[in-house]
Amino acid sequence: MSFKDVIGHKTIVAQLKNAVSSGRVGNAYLFSGPTGIGKKTVAAQFAKALNCLKNDPDGCGECESCRKADASSHPDVKWCGPAGASRSIKIESVRELIRNAGMKPYEGRRKVFVLAEAETLNPASGNALLKTLEEPPADTVFILTTSHKDALLPTIRSRCQTVEFQPLPAKTMEEIARSRYSLPDREAGLYAAMSGGRIGRLDLLLKGDYFRRRDSIIGALAGGGCATVSAVVPMVEALIADLKDARKADEAGMKEQGSDIGDAEEAYLEGRYKEELYETLQCVYLFYRDMLVHKAAGDDSLFINYDKADIIKAMSAAHTRRGIEESIDLIASIRRAVAGNANLKLALEVLFLKLGKAA
Ligand SMILES: [Zn+2]
Repeated sequence: MSFKDVIGHKTIVAQLKNAVSSGRVGNAYLFSGPTGIGKKTVAAQFAKALNCLKNDPDGCGECESCRKADASSHPDVKWCGPAGASRSIKIESVRELIRNAGMKPYEGRRKVFVLAEAETLNPASGNALLKTLEEPPADTVFILTTSHKDALLPTIRSRCQTVEFQPLPAKTMEEIARSRYSLPDREAGLYAAMSGGRIGRLDLLLKGDYFRRRDSIIGALAGGGCATVSAVVPMVEALIADLKDARKADEAGMKEQGSDIGDAEEAYLEGRYKEELYETLQCVYLFYRDMLVHKAAGDDSLFINYDKADIIKAMSAAHTRRGIEESIDLIASIRRAVAGNANLKLALEVLFLKLGKAA
């Protein structure tokens, strides 16, 4: 793939290509936008184009440098992200990266360092990186990606050129759902609405067990399955076991392809687990959003979960508008908490119990 194959993000791609062709490349970029929107895809293409031997601002995809970049084996393109139980970018990784940045490029024109989920830099790693960003070695480009820009040290943010990624239009998402996954129109529309303009999320929804999880949660909420502690506890346990099974399956798949599970793989798996959990909470969020739409507009053509229209209408009728709004706020706050390091099981139990009791 090359910049040409990036779907959407036209202005950003043009800006980065222009930097490549003019040679006016910044030392540090901050790619900001929600998870799954395409930040890493664009970062990978940028890193490739910066070192293309044919000087093709698109990245020719054919020269040795481009081929190595595509195979993630270019010695001058390094990726790093959160790892370990703390889910943070470790100080050792940052030190290693800084050492590496001090050396000349091995083969390419520039050394490119991509720090994924840069909001997980802890203060020590962040400060170590900051020193390098303040006096960047020649021919180095840092690309930090983040879905929580505000959680970054302000001093780091101010050292970077910020590039904001916007969700893709629903029409584009529908086309992708139709062409890439051969979905019929109505279903493509549903997935497009659920994806929130993010291709990564669309892929996740279509590969994952999103609908099975959604159906069981909506079933529990509508059927009184969240009314008591004794009902909620096993439900949350089953949900967490289900998410962990998905993670184990991912890990088994990676081992089958010959990967050792080191820090980078561990980080990837943990990231996927977090995404699956996020999507699970997002499905609850969208369900309540539909209830609110029904309350406010009474128009079920605006439902995202259109296939659950009857349940949505019944649930909406059984709740006050204020109750629905409070539930939506609650889901959003629990989602933030579990994205951090909150006790996952307890947070989910509290959420479903409160939703079960809300009126
Ligand atoms: Zn090339």
